[in-house]
Amino acid sequence: MIILGMVCINFFVLWLTLKVFAQADFWPLLAAPILVSAWFFYEAGAVITIAVTGLLLVQTSFEKNGTIFIAIATFAVLGVMLGWGQRRQRRAHRHILRSSLTDSLTGLYNFGTLMECLDREIRRVDRYGGAVTVVMFDIDHFKMFNDRFGHQAGNEALKAVASTLRKQKRESDIIARFGGEEFILIFPGKEAAGVEAARRMRKAISQIRVPVGGGATSEITVSAGVACYPNGATSKEELLDKVDQLLYASKRKGRNRVSVAPARRRLVAS
Ligand code: GH3
Ligand code: MG
Ligand code: MG
Repeated sequence: MIILGMVCINFFVLWLTLKVFAQADFWPLLAAPILVSAWFFYEAGAVITIAVTGLLLVQTSFEKNGTIFIAIATFAVLGVMLGWGQRRQRRAHRHILRSSLTDSLTGLYNFGTLMECLDREIRRVDRYGGAVTVVMFDIDHFKMFNDRFGHQAGNEALKAVASTLRKQKRESDIIARFGGEEFILIFPGKEAAGVEAARRMRKAISQIRVPVGGGATSEITVSAGVACYPNGATSKEELLDKVDQLLYASKRKGRNRVSVAPARRRLVAS
Protein backbone atom coordinates (compact mmCIF):
# COMPACT_ATOMS: atom_id res chain seq x y z
CA MET A 1 0.00 0.00 0.00
CA ILE A 2 2.84 2.38 0.91
CA ILE A 3 4.55 1.62 -2.40
CA LEU A 4 1.34 2.19 -4.35
CA GLY A 5 0.85 5.49 -2.53
CA MET A 6 4.44 6.50 -3.31
CA VAL A 7 3.97 5.72 -7.00
CA CYS A 8 0.72 7.70 -7.16
CA ILE A 9 2.23 10.72 -5.41
CA ASN A 10 5.26 10.59 -7.69
CA PHE A 11 3.07 10.48 -10.78
CA PHE A 12 0.92 13.34 -9.59
CA VAL A 13 3.85 15.60 -8.73
CA LEU A 14 5.58 14.81 -12.00
CA TRP A 15 2.44 15.51 -13.96
CA LEU A 16 2.06 18.83 -12.14
CA THR A 17 5.67 19.74 -12.83
CA LEU A 18 5.27 18.99 -16.51
CA LYS A 19 2.11 21.08 -16.68
CA VAL A 20 3.74 24.02 -14.96
CA PHE A 21 7.20 23.99 -16.46
CA ALA A 22 7.07 22.51 -19.92
CA GLN A 23 5.17 20.72 -22.61
CA ALA A 24 7.55 17.80 -22.60
CA ASP A 25 7.26 14.13 -23.46
CA PHE A 26 5.83 12.21 -20.55
CA TRP A 27 7.35 8.81 -21.24
CA PRO A 28 10.92 9.19 -19.96
CA LEU A 29 9.63 10.45 -16.64
CA LEU A 30 7.48 7.38 -16.06
CA ALA A 31 10.57 5.31 -15.40
CA ALA A 32 11.80 7.39 -12.46
CA PRO A 33 8.92 6.92 -9.98
CA ILE A 34 8.53 3.25 -10.87
CA LEU A 35 12.20 2.53 -10.31
CA VAL A 36 12.42 4.65 -7.18
CA SER A 37 9.43 2.79 -5.78
CA ALA A 38 10.97 -0.54 -6.80
CA TRP A 39 13.87 0.34 -4.54
CA PHE A 40 11.64 -0.09 -1.56
CA PHE A 41 11.44 -3.77 -2.41
CA TYR A 42 14.87 -4.57 -3.79
CA GLU A 43 18.21 -3.05 -2.97
CA ALA A 44 19.34 -3.75 -6.55
CA GLY A 45 16.57 -1.30 -7.51
CA ALA A 46 18.82 1.46 -6.15
CA VAL A 47 21.50 0.76 -8.72
CA ILE A 48 18.95 0.53 -11.53
CA THR A 49 17.27 3.75 -10.38
CA ILE A 50 20.51 5.68 -10.40
CA ALA A 51 21.65 4.22 -13.74
CA VAL A 52 18.36 4.82 -15.55
CA THR A 53 17.82 8.25 -14.04
CA GLY A 54 21.37 9.16 -15.06
CA LEU A 55 20.68 8.14 -18.65
CA LEU A 56 17.42 10.11 -18.67
CA LEU A 57 19.23 13.15 -17.30
CA VAL A 58 21.82 13.06 -20.06
CA GLN A 59 19.18 12.56 -22.75
CA THR A 60 16.81 15.27 -21.55
CA SER A 61 19.54 17.76 -20.87
CA PHE A 62 20.49 17.54 -24.53
CA GLU A 63 16.91 17.73 -25.76
CA LYS A 64 15.30 20.29 -23.49
CA ASN A 65 16.24 23.61 -22.08
CA GLY A 66 17.19 22.32 -18.63
CA THR A 67 13.87 22.62 -16.78
CA ILE A 68 13.04 18.95 -17.11
CA PHE A 69 16.59 18.15 -16.18
CA ILE A 70 16.11 19.91 -12.85
CA ALA A 71 12.73 18.26 -12.28
CA ILE A 72 14.11 14.75 -12.83
CA ALA A 73 17.19 15.46 -10.77
CA THR A 74 15.03 16.69 -7.89
CA PHE A 75 12.84 13.60 -7.95
CA ALA A 76 15.80 11.28 -8.29
CA VAL A 77 17.52 12.83 -5.27
CA LEU A 78 14.25 12.77 -3.30
CA GLY A 79 13.69 9.15 -4.21
CA VAL A 80 17.21 8.18 -3.25
CA MET A 81 16.91 9.98 0.10
CA LEU A 82 13.51 8.48 0.87
CA GLY A 83 14.62 5.01 -0.17
CA TRP A 84 17.78 5.28 1.89
CA GLY A 85 15.95 6.44 5.01
CA GLN A 86 13.29 3.78 4.61
CA ARG A 87 15.88 1.04 4.23
CA ARG A 88 17.81 2.14 7.33
CA GLN A 89 14.58 2.27 9.29
CA ARG A 90 13.60 -1.21 8.14
CA ARG A 91 17.01 -2.59 9.14
CA ALA A 92 16.80 -0.97 12.58
CA HIS A 93 13.28 -2.32 13.02
CA ARG A 94 14.41 -5.85 12.07
CA HIS A 95 17.31 -5.60 14.52
CA ILE A 96 15.11 -4.42 17.40
CA LEU A 97 12.55 -7.11 16.64
CA ARG A 98 15.20 -9.85 16.60
CA SER A 99 16.75 -8.74 19.88
CA SER A 100 13.38 -8.50 21.58
CA LEU A 101 12.55 -12.09 20.63
CA THR A 102 15.86 -13.81 21.27
CA ASP A 103 18.45 -14.30 23.98
CA SER A 104 21.60 -12.33 23.19
CA LEU A 105 24.10 -14.97 24.42
CA THR A 106 22.74 -18.07 22.69
CA GLY A 107 20.56 -16.62 19.92
CA LEU A 108 17.73 -18.93 20.99
CA TYR A 109 14.22 -17.64 21.69
CA ASN A 110 13.95 -15.90 25.06
CA PHE A 111 11.46 -16.55 27.87
CA GLY A 112 8.79 -14.17 26.51
CA THR A 113 8.83 -15.68 23.03
CA LEU A 114 8.79 -19.16 24.53
CA MET A 115 5.62 -18.38 26.48
CA GLU A 116 3.92 -17.02 23.38
CA CYS A 117 4.91 -20.11 21.37
CA LEU A 118 3.63 -22.40 24.10
CA ASP A 119 0.31 -20.53 24.29
CA ARG A 120 -0.01 -20.86 20.52
CA GLU A 121 0.75 -24.60 20.59
CA ILE A 122 -1.81 -25.18 23.34
CA ARG A 123 -4.44 -23.23 21.38
CA ARG A 124 -3.61 -25.36 18.33
CA VAL A 125 -4.12 -28.57 20.33
CA ASP A 126 -7.39 -27.29 21.85
CA ARG A 127 -8.70 -26.46 18.42
CA TYR A 128 -7.41 -29.22 16.17
CA GLY A 129 -6.53 -32.01 18.62
CA GLY A 130 -3.20 -33.80 18.91
CA ALA A 131 -0.64 -33.05 21.60
CA VAL A 132 2.28 -30.86 22.53
CA THR A 133 5.23 -32.16 24.52
CA VAL A 134 7.57 -29.97 26.54
CA VAL A 135 11.11 -30.91 27.59
CA MET A 136 13.06 -28.90 30.16
CA PHE A 137 16.85 -29.30 30.19
CA ASP A 138 19.10 -28.06 32.98
CA ILE A 139 22.90 -28.22 32.90
CA ASP A 140 24.28 -30.39 35.70
CA HIS A 141 26.51 -28.85 38.37
CA PHE A 142 26.85 -25.68 36.34
CA LYS A 143 27.74 -23.53 39.33
CA MET A 144 30.72 -25.81 39.94
CA PHE A 145 31.67 -25.55 36.24
CA ASN A 146 31.64 -21.74 36.52
CA ASP A 147 33.58 -21.76 39.78
CA ARG A 148 36.20 -24.07 38.36
CA PHE A 149 36.66 -22.71 34.82
CA GLY A 150 35.30 -19.15 35.05
CA HIS A 151 32.22 -17.33 33.83
CA GLN A 152 33.56 -16.99 30.29
CA ALA A 153 33.98 -20.77 29.93
CA GLY A 154 30.47 -21.08 31.39
CA ASN A 155 29.15 -18.82 28.65
CA GLU A 156 30.93 -20.96 26.05
CA ALA A 157 29.24 -24.02 27.53
CA LEU A 158 25.83 -22.33 27.29
CA LYS A 159 26.49 -21.46 23.63
CA ALA A 160 27.64 -25.00 22.88
CA VAL A 161 24.52 -26.51 24.47
CA ALA A 162 22.30 -24.07 22.56
CA SER A 163 24.01 -24.88 19.28
CA THR A 164 23.70 -28.65 19.88
CA LEU A 165 20.00 -28.31 20.69
CA ARG A 166 19.52 -26.22 17.55
CA LYS A 167 21.27 -28.84 15.40
CA GLN A 168 19.27 -31.68 16.92
CA LYS A 169 15.82 -30.15 16.65
CA ARG A 170 13.38 -30.76 13.82
CA GLU A 171 12.02 -27.86 11.82
CA SER A 172 8.69 -27.77 13.65
CA ASP A 173 10.32 -27.89 17.13
CA ILE A 174 10.93 -24.74 19.14
CA ILE A 175 14.00 -24.31 21.35
CA ALA A 176 14.33 -21.51 23.88
CA ARG A 177 16.50 -20.42 26.79
CA PHE A 178 14.13 -20.61 29.74
CA GLY A 179 16.48 -19.11 32.31
CA GLY A 180 20.16 -19.13 33.33
CA GLU A 181 21.23 -22.68 32.38
CA GLU A 182 17.78 -24.04 31.59
CA PHE A 183 16.48 -24.69 28.09
CA ILE A 184 13.08 -25.75 26.81
CA LEU A 185 12.09 -27.76 23.78
CA ILE A 186 8.50 -27.45 22.55
CA PHE A 187 7.76 -30.53 20.54
CA PRO A 188 4.48 -30.46 18.60
CA GLY A 189 3.57 -34.13 19.01
CA LYS A 190 2.98 -37.00 21.40
CA GLU A 191 5.03 -37.69 24.49
CA ALA A 192 6.77 -40.83 23.21
CA ALA A 193 8.32 -38.97 20.26
CA GLY A 194 9.20 -36.03 22.54
CA VAL A 195 11.00 -38.38 24.94
CA GLU A 196 12.96 -39.84 22.05
CA ALA A 197 14.02 -36.34 20.98
CA ALA A 198 14.97 -35.46 24.57
CA ARG A 199 17.12 -38.59 24.89
CA ARG A 200 18.84 -37.89 21.59
CA MET A 201 19.58 -34.32 22.69
CA ARG A 202 20.84 -35.37 26.12
CA LYS A 203 23.21 -37.82 24.47
CA ALA A 204 24.46 -35.24 21.95
CA ILE A 205 25.12 -32.73 24.77
CA SER A 206 27.10 -35.34 26.75
CA GLN A 207 29.46 -35.55 23.77
CA ILE A 208 30.25 -31.80 23.79
CA ARG A 209 33.77 -30.86 24.80
CA VAL A 210 33.81 -27.27 26.03
CA PRO A 211 37.15 -25.42 25.69
CA VAL A 212 38.12 -24.27 29.18
CA GLY A 213 41.45 -22.57 28.46
CA GLY A 214 45.02 -23.76 28.04
CA GLY A 215 43.95 -26.17 25.28
CA ALA A 216 41.93 -28.23 27.80
CA THR A 217 38.27 -29.20 27.40
CA SER A 218 35.55 -30.31 29.78
CA GLU A 219 32.49 -32.48 29.42
CA ILE A 220 29.05 -31.21 30.24
CA THR A 221 25.78 -33.03 30.92
CA VAL A 222 22.13 -32.10 31.27
CA SER A 223 19.16 -33.53 33.13
CA ALA A 224 15.70 -33.30 31.64
CA GLY A 225 12.01 -33.64 32.41
CA VAL A 226 9.32 -34.36 29.83
CA ALA A 227 5.58 -33.72 30.07
CA CYS A 228 2.72 -33.57 27.63
CA TYR A 229 -0.47 -31.54 27.07
CA PRO A 230 -3.33 -32.49 27.27
CA ASN A 231 -2.53 -36.01 28.57
CA GLY A 232 -0.22 -35.02 31.41
CA ALA A 233 -1.43 -31.48 32.19
CA THR A 234 -4.54 -29.34 31.78
CA SER A 235 -2.89 -25.91 31.42
CA LYS A 236 0.37 -24.26 30.46
CA GLU A 237 1.18 -23.59 34.13
CA GLU A 238 0.56 -27.21 35.10
CA LEU A 239 2.63 -28.40 32.14
CA LEU A 240 5.62 -26.25 33.18
CA ASP A 241 5.20 -27.36 36.79
CA LYS A 242 5.26 -31.00 35.67
CA VAL A 243 8.42 -30.69 33.59
CA ASP A 244 10.08 -28.90 36.48
CA GLN A 245 9.17 -31.69 38.92
CA LEU A 246 10.35 -34.34 36.47
CA LEU A 247 13.59 -32.46 35.86
CA TYR A 248 14.27 -32.50 39.58
CA ALA A 249 13.43 -36.20 39.66
CA SER A 250 16.27 -36.62 37.12
CA LYS A 251 18.58 -34.59 39.38
CA ARG A 252 17.66 -36.69 42.42
CA LYS A 253 18.30 -39.90 40.54
CA GLY A 254 21.85 -38.91 39.71
CA ARG A 255 21.65 -36.39 36.79
CA ASN A 256 22.49 -36.83 33.07
CA ARG A 257 19.11 -38.47 32.42
CA VAL A 258 15.56 -37.88 31.15
CA SER A 259 12.48 -38.40 33.32
CA VAL A 260 8.90 -38.76 32.19
CA ALA A 261 5.65 -39.39 34.05
CA PRO A 262 3.79 -42.31 32.46
CA ALA A 263 0.02 -42.76 32.62
CA ARG A 264 0.26 -44.43 36.02
CA ARG A 265 2.08 -41.30 37.22
CA ARG A 266 5.11 -43.19 38.40
CA LEU A 267 8.38 -41.38 37.67
CA VAL A 268 10.63 -43.38 35.38
CA ALA A 269 14.21 -42.48 34.69
CA SER A 270 16.18 -43.49 31.64
P1 GH3 B 1 22.20 -28.69 39.33
O1 GH3 B 1 22.94 -29.84 38.76
O2 GH3 B 1 21.40 -29.09 40.53
O3 GH3 B 1 21.36 -27.99 38.32
O4 GH3 B 1 23.28 -27.67 39.87
P2 GH3 B 1 23.70 -26.29 39.25
O5 GH3 B 1 24.99 -25.90 39.86
O6 GH3 B 1 23.67 -26.37 37.77
O7 GH3 B 1 22.51 -25.37 39.70
P3 GH3 B 1 22.46 -23.96 40.37
O8 GH3 B 1 21.07 -23.46 40.19
O9 GH3 B 1 22.98 -24.04 41.78
O10 GH3 B 1 23.46 -23.06 39.54
C1 GH3 B 1 23.17 -22.54 38.32
C2 GH3 B 1 24.35 -21.71 37.88
O11 GH3 B 1 24.18 -21.23 36.56
C3 GH3 B 1 24.59 -20.51 38.76
C4 GH3 B 1 24.84 -19.38 37.79
O12 GH3 B 1 26.02 -18.72 38.11
C5 GH3 B 1 24.96 -20.06 36.44
N1 GH3 B 1 24.51 -19.22 35.35
C6 GH3 B 1 23.26 -18.79 35.12
N2 GH3 B 1 23.22 -18.00 34.02
C7 GH3 B 1 24.48 -17.95 33.53
C8 GH3 B 1 25.10 -17.29 32.41
O13 GH3 B 1 24.47 -16.60 31.61
N3 GH3 B 1 26.44 -17.48 32.23
C9 GH3 B 1 27.17 -18.26 33.09
N4 GH3 B 1 28.47 -18.42 32.84
N5 GH3 B 1 26.63 -18.86 34.16
C10 GH3 B 1 25.31 -18.72 34.37
MG1 MG C 1 18.85 -24.42 37.05
MG1 MG D 1 21.86 -26.73 36.76
